[in-house]
Amino acid sequence: MAIDLGTANTLVVLKGKGVVLNEPSVVAVVDNKGKKSVLAVGDEAKTMLGRTPGNIQAIRPLRDGVIADFIVTEEMIKHFIKKVHKKTLANPRILICVPTGSTPVERKAIQDSALAAGARKVQLIEEPIAAAIGAGLPISEATGSMVIDIGGGTTEIAVMSLGGVVYSKSLRIAGDAMDVALQNYMREEYNLLIGDSTAEKIKKEVGTAIPTNNNKYPVKGRDIRSGTPKEINVTEEDTAAALNPILKEMIGGIKMALENTPPELSADLVDMGLTLTGGGALLKNIDKRFSKETGLPVHIAEDPLACVAIGTGKALDQEETFSSMLTEY
Ligand code: ADP
Ligand code: MG
Repeated sequence: MAIDLGTANTLVVLKGKGVVLNEPSVVAVVDNKGKKSVLAVGDEAKTMLGRTPGNIQAIRPLRDGVIADFIVTEEMIKHFIKKVHKKTLANPRILICVPTGSTPVERKAIQDSALAAGARKVQLIEEPIAAAIGAGLPISEATGSMVIDIGGGTTEIAVMSLGGVVYSKSLRIAGDAMDVALQNYMREEYNLLIGDSTAEKIKKEVGTAIPTNNNKYPVKGRDIRSGTPKEINVTEEDTAAALNPILKEMIGGIKMALENTPPELSADLVDMGLTLTGGGALLKNIDKRFSKETGLPVHIAEDPLACVAIGTGKALDQEETFSSMLTEY
């Protein structure tokens, strides 16, 4: 069993079966006079985000790429393992991918959670390595590859060669920050308050890194001054302007990675280009914008949202090839 424990989504891959679970990394916790218990996990819990009464909290335990709440994270891992586990073998071997920036304490905690959930053996793989394997990059060879994984909470930028990470940087801005940027823009430009889900929807449907048309897209929210519901129209010009600061920060991070890449590997990147994975890679024209600003070819992985999970699954399947990239604590 392979698990991609993302800040926004968790995916589980079973050997030979592909992705068998794909749910938001969300846990709904109910507080009964100080005694907390888990009410719902995943899809069910996500529908509760922003809609919970006082004593219920919908938590994203990995939101910023670090574990904010160990107990809740453990409950979530256990829940997902049990869910796919029911129909399969007892005591599976589990491979979990972890962000390069995670601390030894966090890695140990993730491993312990999986063991507590019934795993026989737990191994970890660095997320950019898994992303590179998933994207089919020649990760085991002496060729430089760069992967930019734009998730919910973090953007992971990594340069790899010979199965190892040569340089990596984790930025605390990604898909969530894009949603917040859209919310701020709507408030400042149109006096309109919109919720997280609405912002995410705008991003997916009209969000762009480079505007290409002037189509109008209706958005509903609450007017700041009157407090009443209202509808306005947004265009790609709006979303591009709102998202620009986030994209600039990402480009800054990519340029820093390029400056820190050994020259021989830089030469490889001129030919190989950069590969985008994670849900943020689906933002319209993000590849064109990054390519324009770096002067390098930019490719989007085939299935950006599942790329890391697929790579983790491949590492599990082809153990001989990838064993040097797996670690245990
Ligand atoms: P993580 O690995 O951190 O869990 P994912 O790779 O699953 O993150 O990506 C989740 C992020 O991708 C969310 O912020 C989501 O809004 C964003 N996303 C998903 N689809 C699109 C899209 N079509 N355009 C822009 N962003 C998207
Ligand atoms: Mg991810």
